[in-house]
Amino acid sequence: MNILKKLTTNIPPITKSFSVSSAHNTNYSCKLLVIGGGSGGCAIAAKFARRLKKDEVYILEPNEEHYFQPLWTLVGAGVKTVPQTRRRMKSVLPSNAKWLKDAAVSIKPKSNSVMTKEGHEIQYEYLVVCAGLQNDYAKVPGMLEALKHPASGVSTIYSAEYCGKTWADLRSFKGGEAVFTYPDTPIKCPGAPQKIAYLTDSYLRMSHVRSKSNITYNTCLPVIFGVKKYADALMKVVERKNIKVNYKTVLKEVRSDKKEAVFYTDDKTKEITLPYDMLHVTPPMKTPEFLARGDPSLVDGGGFLAVDKYTLRHARYPNVYGLGDCINTPNSKTVAAVAKQLKVVEMNLSRAMSNDEPNKKYDGYGACPLLTEYGKCILAEFVYDGVPHETMPFNQARESTIAYYMKKDLFPLLYWTLMVRGYYNGPEIVRNIINPLGN
Ligand SMILES: Cc1cc2nc3c(=O)[nH]c(=O)nc-3n(C[C@H](O)[C@H](O)[C@H](O)COP(=O)(O)OP(=O)(O)OC[C@H]3O[C@@H](n4cnc5c(N)ncnc54)[C@H](O)[C@@H]3O)c2cc1C
Repeated sequence: MNILKKLTTNIPPITKSFSVSSAHNTNYSCKLLVIGGGSGGCAIAAKFARRLKKDEVYILEPNEEHYFQPLWTLVGAGVKTVPQTRRRMKSVLPSNAKWLKDAAVSIKPKSNSVMTKEGHEIQYEYLVVCAGLQNDYAKVPGMLEALKHPASGVSTIYSAEYCGKTWADLRSFKGGEAVFTYPDTPIKCPGAPQKIAYLTDSYLRMSHVRSKSNITYNTCLPVIFGVKKYADALMKVVERKNIKVNYKTVLKEVRSDKKEAVFYTDDKTKEITLPYDMLHVTPPMKTPEFLARGDPSLVDGGGFLAVDKYTLRHARYPNVYGLGDCINTPNSKTVAAVAKQLKVVEMNLSRAMSNDEPNKKYDGYGACPLLTEYGKCILAEFVYDGVPHETMPFNQARESTIAYYMKKDLFPLLYWTLMVRGYYNGPEIVRNIINPLGN
């Protein structure tokens, strides 16, 4: 009995010690825990690492590398390389915060704690979840096998591993059927599946094989783009480029042995088989397991963190906030949206830390630089309900060279120098100066 008492009294209380390589299970505790060190996680951690004391912010992130994913479209088109999209995670996370190189496996919101893959438990006072979206290859039989095979002609810009393969496939394409897909789940950057189709058209024209090829874009959606102003402009691009669009059509299976892509119509009444020489897939996507299969009180029916669409505070747990692709707000899932959400979470969470109610509102801002050819881009910017909200003092539905170079050079620069350090909250300030009335 005495021994037992001695043993239990010797168990340390929740400790603030930190070791990446610890073999033993540890209890950590922190003021603010950020799950995910991607676009949202890095930036929100940087903001609070400045506001709070050293090591009061913890970041839970398993990956050694951080990517600026929007450039993967340009990797697929041969304009950028994968290393240009990548930085060491350590170099982008704030030095004033503690990085736990581990992954969340469950959140216990009632006891304010998170369990990790390595078996540790982290107690938090406040939590920001920004764990992004993952490709759900298993949902389409044959997709992953085809992606892995170097000579399959199947690629995707939605992965650091396979976006270089898109460029290789483009260069080796000598004419035939080029097929593109858009899945029936929410995805990040909903414009990217068509951007790569447009760039493919441009490349095939430059390499004189366009006249020997057909391009088919298959989308689960009933329209080319969700905002009418830009959809109208994009339909002209589609017609000019002679791209065939199949609406309400979802990829069901990839038969790489026969080079066939099998689709069904969204009501599942009809099956269509398209032969391909080059197939660009946009995989279905899902939130990470700890959300998708986690505590149901945290998520909506689709496995997305259930937050108030304006305050970004969790619908049930007031000390929990969300950012970026893994939350259930009805905006376009983009870095541009994350930038705008950052300020909202920063202000509302700071107020929560002073026992005040959140009062800053997210307006649903998102942006999508729709590359229509090498050197041209339609820069879509909009808020909730598809209302355009443009920054530049010209009609952004027109294809523009300026917008192309903003996408290719300016946005990556802003991202690496300001955003990951928590200093960029979207183009609001610039818009108020150069386009105060909006258009
Ligand atoms: C091909 C492509 C083109 C795009 N084009 C554009 C564009 O033109 N403009 C634009 O604004 N946006 C674009 N985007 C979208 C943009 O990249 C995302 O919306 C943005 O990165 C979302 O940020 P996030 O922090 O929510 O997620 P991410 O940046 O994906 O970060 C999520 C982080 O969570 C981590 N994580 C996952 N699971 C766990 C776990 N269990 N525990 C701990 N950590 C975990 C991951 O390792 C990752 O680091 C594009 C994306 C792609 C793929």
